[in-house]
Amino acid sequence: MKRLNWLGLPFLGDEGRPVHQSDLNAFRRCPPQYAFSRVREATDNLPEKRTALIALKGRVYHQIMEDYLNYSDHDFLCADETERGYKDAFEYFFKEDFKGEPTDEDLAWLEKESATAGRIMRGFHERSVLDGMGIELVATEAEFRFRWGPRFKHKKWFAGRIDALWYSPHLDGYILRDFKSGTRLPGRLEWDLQLGVYSMAAECGAIEDVPAKPVLSRGIIRLHDYDRRKVGSKNGAAGDYYGPGVYTADPSITPEMVMEHEVYPLVLEIRERERTGRFNGGTKDSTNCSWCSEIDACKARISLL
Ligand code: SF4
Repeated sequence: MKRLNWLGLPFLGDEGRPVHQSDLNAFRRCPPQYAFSRVREATDNLPEKRTALIALKGRVYHQIMEDYLNYSDHDFLCADETERGYKDAFEYFFKEDFKGEPTDEDLAWLEKESATAGRIMRGFHERSVLDGMGIELVATEAEFRFRWGPRFKHKKWFAGRIDALWYSPHLDGYILRDFKSGTRLPGRLEWDLQLGVYSMAAECGAIEDVPAKPVLSRGIIRLHDYDRRKVGSKNGAAGDYYGPGVYTADPSITPEMVMEHEVYPLVLEIRERERTGRFNGGTKDSTNCSWCSEIDACKARISLL
């Protein structure tokens, strides 16, 4: 593995390379995987198709959810035209990402995913607790950028995009939600890195035109196909199944605690690895390898045979 500082990229947390949640998650999942992504960044290598399709699915789900929140007539989810709309969205993003027409195999995948998206959104809509709570949607896809550190001298840059933020006039604070369309989810939402960074951004006024206020509740909106067999384990350990709906973090753990005890030490560790170029110690979970686009090149991979 090349030493990363030979690539001439800024260190994580510098102004030219603010910390994004994808950096933190990639490093925590597997340090070599994080290193591979930095090398790609330096060489402009495109990820393989399987990885790009997973990313495309995430983009479409986020777009659908954003549209859902911004429409007042939520019954549109149940109409036949809406399913065709999901397919159009999938095709649109496909052409944008892959710069070409889908093959027959791609079209079959798009068809299947559009139908799944329709089912998921109807399932979510039936269980939705967002309506009638007296809260106002303040922003979707809200970009932020801020500096944070336990001591002024050592502040690092953070950037990203918050999926959805509501304001409660009664409680004078925010409700923050991230959309999740993947199959695996964080087990301890109160210590979740992404929710911690996003909440800190809202609390310190890092979003344009959104005043700084406390985040009263942070959590995820789960967009995944309904599986009757596994529902009921929603508050269990990491890797447990979450049905479609809303899951929130214990508010007694504040965003500042997450930043200080989880996020900041991880950023320092990544910077140290970037300085030394040592990214040994791959994942312990073979499932990560089976989904990793770097498996052929990686010496740390776990054999699934
Ligand atoms: S193949 Fe496995 S060990 Fe190697 S980078 Fe990917 S997830 Fe990490």
